[in-house]
Amino acid sequence: MAKVEKPIPETNTWTEPFWDATREGKLVIQKCVDCDQKIFYPRLICPSCFSQNIEWIEASGKGTVYTYTVVVNNAPSAFLDDMPYVVAVVRLDEGVQMLSNIVECDPASVHCDMPVKVAFKSINDEYTLPVFKPL
Ligand SMILES: [Zn+2]
Repeated sequence: MAKVEKPIPETNTWTEPFWDATREGKLVIQKCVDCDQKIFYPRLICPSCFSQNIEWIEASGKGTVYTYTVVVNNAPSAFLDDMPYVVAVVRLDEGVQMLSNIVECDPASVHCDMPVKVAFKSINDEYTLPVFKPL
């Protein structure tokens, strides 16, 4: 059976700074200059005040697990070899939430409010995914 390739991120002009940063081992989010709202996922307009005056800032990379699931069966074909793996919503200390994976730990040890720190997983020469490990 042919190996199924994992999907790669679909990017556009306003998400490219995020992927450029992860490739360099940095986690960045957006901040509205006018109302100070922290923003993730990348957007062209502040969802709080509709300003287009948005800048990129480096995030601390620290946060907590807001919610999660452990995938132990029925994973998409490209992810079968990864099971069991943890898909989690991580709430960064900056207040935004990010869908990611929890790595470098026993999936059974993951719990809500667990402190985590960003790590970086290169998937090819172009893209590096932010993932999280126990702090
Ligand atoms: Zn704003």
